[in-house]
Amino acid sequence: MNRRELILSTLGTGLGAGFATAVLPRFLWAAGDPLDTAYLNASIWTGVPSAPQATALGIRGNRIAAVGEEAVRAAIGSKTRTVDLAGAFVVPGFIDNHTHFLRSSQGLAQADLRLASSREELASLIAASAAKLPEGAWLLGGNWDEQRWGGELPTREWIDSVTPNTPVAVVRTDQHSTLLNSLALKLAGIDRHSVAPPGGVIIKDANGEPTGIVKDAARDLVDHAIPEPTDADIDAAMRQGIAYGLSLGVTQIHIKEVDWATHHSLRRLRLQGEPGMRFYSYVPLPDWERISALVQEEGRGDDWVRWGGMKGLVDGSLGSRTALFHEPYTDDPSTSGITMFPLEDLREWIFAADGAGLQLAIHAIGDQANDWTLDTFAATIERNGPRDRRFLIEHAQHVRPASIPRFAQLSVIPSVQPFHAIDDGRWAVNRIGPERLHGTYAFKSFLDAGARLSFGSDWPVAPLDPLTGIDAAVLRRTVDGANPGGWIPEEKISVDAALHAYTTANAYAGFQEDRLGRIAPGLLADFAVLDANLLTIDPDRITQAKVLHTVVDGKVRFDRLG
Ligand SMILES: [Zn+2]
Repeated sequence: MNRRELILSTLGTGLGAGFATAVLPRFLWAAGDPLDTAYLNASIWTGVPSAPQATALGIRGNRIAAVGEEAVRAAIGSKTRTVDLAGAFVVPGFIDNHTHFLRSSQGLAQADLRLASSREELASLIAASAAKLPEGAWLLGGNWDEQRWGGELPTREWIDSVTPNTPVAVVRTDQHSTLLNSLALKLAGIDRHSVAPPGGVIIKDANGEPTGIVKDAARDLVDHAIPEPTDADIDAAMRQGIAYGLSLGVTQIHIKEVDWATHHSLRRLRLQGEPGMRFYSYVPLPDWERISALVQEEGRGDDWVRWGGMKGLVDGSLGSRTALFHEPYTDDPSTSGITMFPLEDLREWIFAADGAGLQLAIHAIGDQANDWTLDTFAATIERNGPRDRRFLIEHAQHVRPASIPRFAQLSVIPSVQPFHAIDDGRWAVNRIGPERLHGTYAFKSFLDAGARLSFGSDWPVAPLDPLTGIDAAVLRRTVDGANPGGWIPEEKISVDAALHAYTTANAYAGFQEDRLGRIAPGLLADFAVLDANLLTIDPDRITQAKVLHTVVDGKVRFDRLG
């Protein structure tokens, strides 16, 4: 069996969007067949504008077979499992438009020491994290802060007894100092005779022994000793990320990655079975020929793992003053930002990838980067002819008000991450001044201009939890609490609009609106059950809602309904 046959036999059905639609009738049962599971007494937000609410849904196989009390009750048979949701809130599974999923998932297995406020707490958090790792694996992560326990720097003795077989290298919150245990020092070859490299420090005690703290360039000695993760390590981290996402009601992730590691892992996970969560993998635009060849050879994957999208970058970020603006930065008039690639190259890649039928997602943060991307998309349509393309601008963070209508005119999807608004909102005005705040994180303006607003997280830059994104879009309160009425409050949107941006809009962005993103008969059964109705609770409490139950492809993947 060659590789292609293996993949075909494993994937079975649904190679490519057109094919999946063509085989749809094979999944449909006769109308009289009983449901596998009936969910009753629910408060359902369907995502269907003409019938936005329902109280029951039924699934058969991997599909939603009935919606609404009457239809569901009529299809209950003797073998149907019924679940009384007692008023719980049901939404289509959340789809996240932008994550760096592998890096974030690897972070889940690492230590999070931000809250350690004593020597004992530091040791017990490290012990707990070490216990979750396979034998001999390095414990990384950290973000400890000695100011939380009075200012004494930690030493290897604090943690050696709880990590006899786990090498530990955990960074201080500023990322400049690292705490090592004795095993890590040994593996890194650091002892009393070691001399720090230029730009680095190895702290030693009164007896001349290393205490376990190394600074700046001395960290290189440690990094050389940490093995590259194997494919098995990567896949195990991905599975941890999947379990975490399912616990938050996330059923599909769009990978917007600048390397191929996640893509390769997703292909391995799919060959092993159902990953449990769906993925659409975007890979780096400069490599468009590789994915084009794959699409020609194998199609675009199936509804578990799909590909055919390219991620390109125009500019950098606002925080580092590398986002590209028409005018200079307010707090540094010497720069108006940078481009990540020569724009001529980027343009040629966009023309060529689009010509090959691939989907384009282009990172643009500053107003000039957004205008350049809109112009280039217009030129692409002109050059390659009309087609259903679903161009995406990733972040679309600072857009001149006059350019906002162009998103709808060119059918460009603003692929935004609302948590960034309440994070950057603390200091964005310093960078760009008050005038350019018009068109900054302009969610309401995009909707009013007819664009299909799409939401995601940018995990690990922001939390994966969609409720934090909905809260940010609805209330726009900056994370420092300085804007209780909302930062740029005229750009607040409704909970209903935020739910659409996390469900129907992302199904559309992935060319899957015929089978994902809504709760309607015939669609794939992907949904989440929450303990609070986001449409009726006090918006202050949105982030306190809990996911109770997550179903993907008709199977329960996370459950605490009890
Ligand atoms: Zn990103």
